[in-house]
Amino acid sequence: MTTHVTIIGAGLGGLTLARVLHVNGIPATVYEAEPSPMARLQGGMLDIHDYNGQLALQAADLMDEFRAIILEGRQATRVLDRDGTVLMDEPDDGTGSRPEVQRGELRQILLDSLPAGTVRWGHKVSGTRTLDDGRHEVTFADGGIVVTNLLVGADGAWSRVRPLLSDATPEYFGRSFVETYLYDSETRHPTSAKTVGSGSLFVLASDSGASGKWIGAHRESGETLHAYMTLAKPLDWFDGIDFTDAAAATARIAAEFEGWAPEITALITDSDTAPMVRPLNSLPIGHRWDRVPGATLVGDAAHLSPPDGEGANLAMQDGAELGQAVAAHPDDIEAALTAYEAALFPRSAAAATAAVATNDAIGQDLIGFFTPDEQTA
Ligand SMILES: Cc1cc2nc3c(=O)[nH]c(=O)nc-3n(C[C@H](O)[C@H](O)[C@H](O)COP(=O)(O)OP(=O)(O)OC[C@H]3O[C@@H](n4cnc5c(N)ncnc54)[C@H](O)[C@@H]3O)c2cc1C
Repeated sequence: MTTHVTIIGAGLGGLTLARVLHVNGIPATVYEAEPSPMARLQGGMLDIHDYNGQLALQAADLMDEFRAIILEGRQATRVLDRDGTVLMDEPDDGTGSRPEVQRGELRQILLDSLPAGTVRWGHKVSGTRTLDDGRHEVTFADGGIVVTNLLVGADGAWSRVRPLLSDATPEYFGRSFVETYLYDSETRHPTSAKTVGSGSLFVLASDSGASGKWIGAHRESGETLHAYMTLAKPLDWFDGIDFTDAAAATARIAAEFEGWAPEITALITDSDTAPMVRPLNSLPIGHRWDRVPGATLVGDAAHLSPPDGEGANLAMQDGAELGQAVAAHPDDIEAALTAYEAALFPRSAAAATAAVATNDAIGQDLIGFFTPDEQTA
């Protein structure tokens, strides 16, 4: 009998899994809380790495579609000191191994590659439990229920499937991003466009290292500048800011960067959107679980870590490897899940350790982070 896989969550991890299952002739249904593919802005640019995300796209047989959405020139990197001094300025010479794409476009090529009806939108999972016969029951917010032999939680940080496997819950990492967007930058924000350059910008005050305070920005498609101010503050500090009052919130966040060059703080003060706070959470490093028959996790649900440019890549790699494991053991779900998790756990532990180290390093010694060879020479 063919396994039918029930996947919760239509993020990059769940969709890559569904696609790799599909190319291997295995049916799946993806239940997604959002009401439609367009329900939420899938903002953000992702660099897709040749050692994980691109391997997943190969397994999904979607490399041509991927190449078609690459944003040329976006692998350029600039590093500035807070007074605007250019410390590093590396152009995109076309030889990089981490091409940038828009998250929404990547998600769309995965959605387009699945048989119609694979994703059931507007299905928010409210709970899961294991039945006496070992199968898993999934309950939706509207009262609907499905029962499945193979349940995969691809439902991100606050997974409703994870409690079947583990008691772990994400904890605040001690830092938050505050995000802003500047649209049509070449015409409306030319100074900011020049400051960010054609790819990524990183700015750190050389004397603010211990505070973990820095600014990152990307030039996304359509000349949109997407900036994120990183602040190492407790959650109640952010709770004290009324983010519904855009002007007041902008002024409060900008005050944290007082004395920084105006072309840099313009990424805050000239924003076309109200600043948006995004607390960074993580699961314990080395999060793992004992084998539970017929259930497993992929992506952030399994190993949420502070952002270091790997999370989406890892979610796709998890999805692809799980799909391949199920295809390799079509009549033995437990053999498939055991093989998948044997690779997942050490990979996730190493990645989480690296993510914490990267966040510490980038918050303390940005130049050393980007030029380690020169620092040790
Ligand atoms: C600010 C920020 C910047 C980042 N930048 C990068 C980057 O540059 N590169 C990179 O590789 N990674 C980056 N990451 C990490 C990356 O976004 C995540 O690791 C990645 O999205 C995880 O994919 P996923 O499929 O596991 O989960 P998600 O993308 O979170 O998808 C989960 C899906 O499950 C759905 N869902 C949730 N709950 C339920 C429910 N109860 N019922 C049904 N559906 C549900 C959600 O609606 C969502 O569609 C960044 C993260 C943050 C916070």
